[in-house]
Amino acid sequence: MSKLVIANFKMNGSKEFIANWVKDFHEENESNKTIILALPSPYLSNFKDSYLNLAGQNVSNQSSGAFTSQLSAQMLKDCGAEYCLIGHSEARQYLMETNENIKQKFDQLAQESIQQVLCIGEPLVIKEASKTTDYLLEQLELLSSDQENIIVAYEPIWAIGTGLTPEIEDIQLAVDCIRGRFNKSIKVLYGGSVNSSNAANISAKTDIDGLLVGGASLNPKEFAKIAQLC
Ligand code: PEP
Repeated sequence: MSKLVIANFKMNGSKEFIANWVKDFHEENESNKTIILALPSPYLSNFKDSYLNLAGQNVSNQSSGAFTSQLSAQMLKDCGAEYCLIGHSEARQYLMETNENIKQKFDQLAQESIQQVLCIGEPLVIKEASKTTDYLLEQLELLSSDQENIIVAYEPIWAIGTGLTPEIEDIQLAVDCIRGRFNKSIKVLYGGSVNSSNAANISAKTDIDGLLVGGASLNPKEFAKIAQLC
């Protein structure tokens, strides 16, 4: 099964930027990985192509109605998204998302057969108190241990956009903790300051199923290198 490599553009880009990105990425890319672009939602339907898979960056916990500013799972599906991030730490922080909201989002996506990519990860204070695995298990409480077909992205909050990454052993510890929580085999990705200098080491020395890349994904050549090294 090919590894997954997700580019999370966050709130960056424009139609022109993404069109150039796709062109440059295709010129550079030599990997056979499953590439997923988590684009800002207005651009999703412009960039569906046969090689690149699309992801939403978030979804409403409601299916339709008077929820001005929100996007339903059905709308994401309509725009070509086959995947969607939920529980990203930036959404938890800036949109005050709770585990309860995130579970509702998970269920909305399931109804539209959109693959959820559930992001979890600890803040620095939890890492420093050596309580990472307890924290991760608490974030996973929203899912039954019999849940199948899940992708969990382990993204330590202190590693996102900081240039810092955990020790390899700590990534593997978190991955084992996440996998051990479920009865069925699930996919686990790592995210947090991944770039072309650390992607190969993280991929080779842990048993992750792929990478979630934020800042470094905005450079298509760098992202193609990461996909190759993953
Ligand atoms: C992210 O936002 O999911 C992320 C991993 O960001 P960065 O790669 O910039 O740390």
